[in-house]
Amino acid sequence: MKAAKFEYEQAQSLQQIQDAYGSDPSALRLMGGSQSLGPMLNLRLVRPGRVLDVSAVPELRQVTAIKGHVRIGAAVTHAQIEDGIYELLRGHMMQKVAGRIAYRGVRNRGTLGGSLAHADPAADWVLTCVALGARINVRGTQGSRTVPMSEFMLAAYTTVLEAGEFIESVDVPEVSGSARWGYYKFTRKVGEFADASCACYFDPATRTARVVIGAMEGAPRSLPELAVKVAAQGAAVLEGDTIEAALQPYLAQRDEAHQVLFRTVVERSLKQALGVKG
Ligand SMILES: Cc1cc2nc3c(=O)[nH]c(=O)nc-3n(C[C@H](O)[C@H](O)[C@H](O)COP(=O)(O)OP(=O)(O)OC[C@H]3O[C@@H](n4cnc5c(N)ncnc54)[C@H](O)[C@@H]3O)c2cc1C
Repeated sequence: MKAAKFEYEQAQSLQQIQDAYGSDPSALRLMGGSQSLGPMLNLRLVRPGRVLDVSAVPELRQVTAIKGHVRIGAAVTHAQIEDGIYELLRGHMMQKVAGRIAYRGVRNRGTLGGSLAHADPAADWVLTCVALGARINVRGTQGSRTVPMSEFMLAAYTTVLEAGEFIESVDVPEVSGSARWGYYKFTRKVGEFADASCACYFDPATRTARVVIGAMEGAPRSLPELAVKVAAQGAAVLEGDTIEAALQPYLAQRDEAHQVLFRTVVERSLKQALGVKG
């Protein structure tokens, strides 16, 4: 199937994006890397009158340091993060995760902002940004606001973005010598979305402990009690049924195979963070 007819334009500035929304924001669709929007257009799941490509807007392609955080422009691609072209993200959890998103062709074009706005429950950035406690900087015709990632995604393919609003940038913690993290996902084959995934992030210097599971029905789920136990007890948590108990409320309705997958991704993610082999 081919997309229904639409007008296409490339934005050159943030102001141009804001102006383009005009009096009827619902008629306009932004395009990042088009890796999700393209298929949706072709399947006619969306039929916008106008598409504004934001991938070349200079402000959306910057990576800068902001008081203990790294601010990543929404149009920065997965591949740019993977390749370490931004010094501030070299050795960052973001760099390691980027290299495992889909395959290179998708990573070359897919953007951080597009992935978060699309809000696929199994998406890697959605999960990672919750684990990192990222802040989403949103801009719109009515002004700007910052939303914690834990509140940004409301349900599958649904975010707090209002008509006329777009993601300008994302703030993640800067590379820290004391931070430890883990990331593990199961996919049937390379390039597919995860069947089960877990990201964890611990930093004693900022008293941060997060364990988050993805590929659920909706937004990623945090496991705060498990995170606190891991921070306090370390690898001892891997023994016994602590992980299983933490997952129980979310997996009771899932079949045995999924329960095993989730137990395994949590265990392997924690082992990575704790430096435990196996
Ligand atoms: C074969 C294949 C496999 C994939 N596998 C994975 C995977 O394993 N893991 C994973 O995480 N992802 C995967 N993806 C998705 C990929 O990461 C996409 O790049 C991503 O979901 C969308 O990013 P995009 O920049 O292409 O956004 P687009 O497709 O251009 O846009 C997606 C949505 O976001 C909106 N949008 C775009 N930019 C902004 C902005 N700045 N502000 C507000 N709204 C915006 C668009 O209007 C649209 O609604 C896969 C995609 C494909 C095609």
